[in-house]
Amino acid sequence: QGSEPLLKNITAEHLLDGLLTANFSYPSCRSRYEFAVHHKSSPHKPSPYLIAKLRKQEALQQRCGPGTAAHKKAVRRLDSGEGVVDDDDGCRYLVYISYRGLGNRMLAITSAFLYAVLTDRVLLVDGGKDADALFCEPFPGTTWLLPRATSWFSRSPLTRLQGYEGGSTETLGNMLQSDAVTVSADGNVSWSAARPPPYLYLHLSGVYGFHDKLFFCGAQQRLLGEVPWLFMWTDNYIVPGLFLTPPFRGELEAMFPEKDAVFYHLGRYLFHPTNPVWNAITTYYHSSGLAGAGKRVGVQIRVFQKKQPPQVVLGQLVSCVRDEKLLPETSAGKGTSSSVAVLVTSLSSWYHERIRDEYGGRVAGGVHQPSHEGRQRWRDAAHDMRALSEMYLLSMCHVLVTSGYSTFGYVAQGLAGLRPWVMPRAPMWAADWREGLDPREPPCRRAVSVEPCFHSPSYYDCAAGRDVELDKVTPYISRCVDVKYGIKLV
Ligand code: GDP
Repeated sequence: QGSEPLLKNITAEHLLDGLLTANFSYPSCRSRYEFAVHHKSSPHKPSPYLIAKLRKQEALQQRCGPGTAAHKKAVRRLDSGEGVVDDDDGCRYLVYISYRGLGNRMLAITSAFLYAVLTDRVLLVDGGKDADALFCEPFPGTTWLLPRATSWFSRSPLTRLQGYEGGSTETLGNMLQSDAVTVSADGNVSWSAARPPPYLYLHLSGVYGFHDKLFFCGAQQRLLGEVPWLFMWTDNYIVPGLFLTPPFRGELEAMFPEKDAVFYHLGRYLFHPTNPVWNAITTYYHSSGLAGAGKRVGVQIRVFQKKQPPQVVLGQLVSCVRDEKLLPETSAGKGTSSSVAVLVTSLSSWYHERIRDEYGGRVAGGVHQPSHEGRQRWRDAAHDMRALSEMYLLSMCHVLVTSGYSTFGYVAQGLAGLRPWVMPRAPMWAADWREGLDPREPPCRRAVSVEPCFHSPSYYDCAAGRDVELDKVTPYISRCVDVKYGIKLV
C-alpha cells in the first residue's frame, strides 16, 4: 500500500480547499496530494485572501527566484556591495539561515515564509544540507533552496551565512546602535547614507537583545523594507510577534480570520515530505496496524535533561493518561471495532517498552514505536527523515500527548490540527521534574490552541515605549501552558 499511487482523480479536497496549486505532477511528490487522504477532513478552511496571497507569492518566487535574470542581477549587486539602484526589478530577498533540530527549522521556515509574504520578498532557504531530501519544492516552477556557492573563494555574503552563528556587525540591532541609522526628533528612523546597506542580518533567536527585538516595530520595518537582502537567523515560531507588529496586523487578520490556524494552513502549504519519506510514513502506517485503528493515541516523549530519571518522566505520562482518561484502564472491550492503537515517539526505546508492558494488553491496535535513534544527530539526512516521518505519523493521530517546550511536538500538533495534552518540562536545574514546579501542578495540561508557542517574544510596545503584558493587550494572544514567557495565537 505504501508504494502504489493511491489517487485516481485529484479533487479540491486533495488540494486542501485551494491551499495547494495543482501545478505539480502527482508522481513527483505524492504526499502533496495524499496528505488529505491520511488526515481527517479539515474543519478550517483557508480564507480566499490567504489563497490569493499564496498564488501571488508563487508568482513572485518564479519571477525573481534562482535561475532568473533578476536573481542574477540581485546577487551581483549584493556581492559588489552596490545595493539598490534605480533600475532594480522589484525583487528583494529573505534568506532563512538553517540551524537547530528539524522541528525548530520547520517553525522558523514557516515564520520566514510569512514574513516574506507580508513584505513582498522572495524566500530562499539556506542549507540544512538535507532540505531537498526531506521536502518537495513548495513553489511551482522554481526552487526555494538558496543556490550553493560555485566557488569557495567567493566573497559573497551568501557563502558566509552558515558561519553567522549569532554574530555580525550587520545585524539590525548593531545597525540601530551605530551611526548608519539616523533617529529624528519624533522617533523615526532612516538610513544615514544615501543608499541602504545591501544586506542585513535579523537576529531573532534565544536571548536576543533589545535592539534586535525592535524588529517587531513599525518604524524599523519601514527601514528594513529598503534593504534588498535580509538574512534571518531564528529557531523560533515568531508568527505571534508578527501579529503584534503594527504594519502587519491588518494583513494578517485578513489572511487568517481564524487566528489559531496559521501553522495549520502554512505547515500544510509549505511542507510536503519527499517520496522516500512519504513511502516510509505510509508503509509504517499500514504495516504497523495504525491505519486500521479507530482511535490512534500519539505520545511524544522528549527529554531535554540528561540526568532526569526516566521513571519520573514515565510516571508523569501515566498520570496524565489516567487523569485525562486517554487510554482504557482495563482490557475489557479490547476487541471492539473502534480499537485503540498507541504510537510512541522518543529517542529512547525504554518508554515504548514500559508503555507496551502497561497498556499492550488493553489496546487491540498495539503500542508502536517506529524508531529509537538514541540521540539527536546533526547533518544526518537519514536521521532527519526518520524524525520527519514521526512528526507526520503523530499528526495522523486522534489524540496527542506531547512534551512541553518541544518544537517536534508543535509541528505534529499543528499539522494534525489537534490541541494536545502537554506535559510540562522539568526545569533545567531539576533532577526530578517536580522539583522547581508547583507541587499542585497537574502532570499535563490541554494546550489552549493548536498553534506552536513563540518561546521568546519581545514584550516591548514600540508606540508606548515600555514593556507590556502581551496576553492582556491582544484578544487572540495568550500565554503558553509550557513556556513561562512564551505566547501563542488562540
Ligand atoms: P525540539 O528540540 O524538541 O524542540 O525539536 P527539534 O525537532 O528541533 O530537535 C530535536 C531533534 O532530535 C529532532 O529533529 C530529531 O532529530 C531528534 N528527535 C527528538 N525526538 C525524536 C523522536 O521522537 N523521534 C525521532 N526520530 N527523532 C527525534
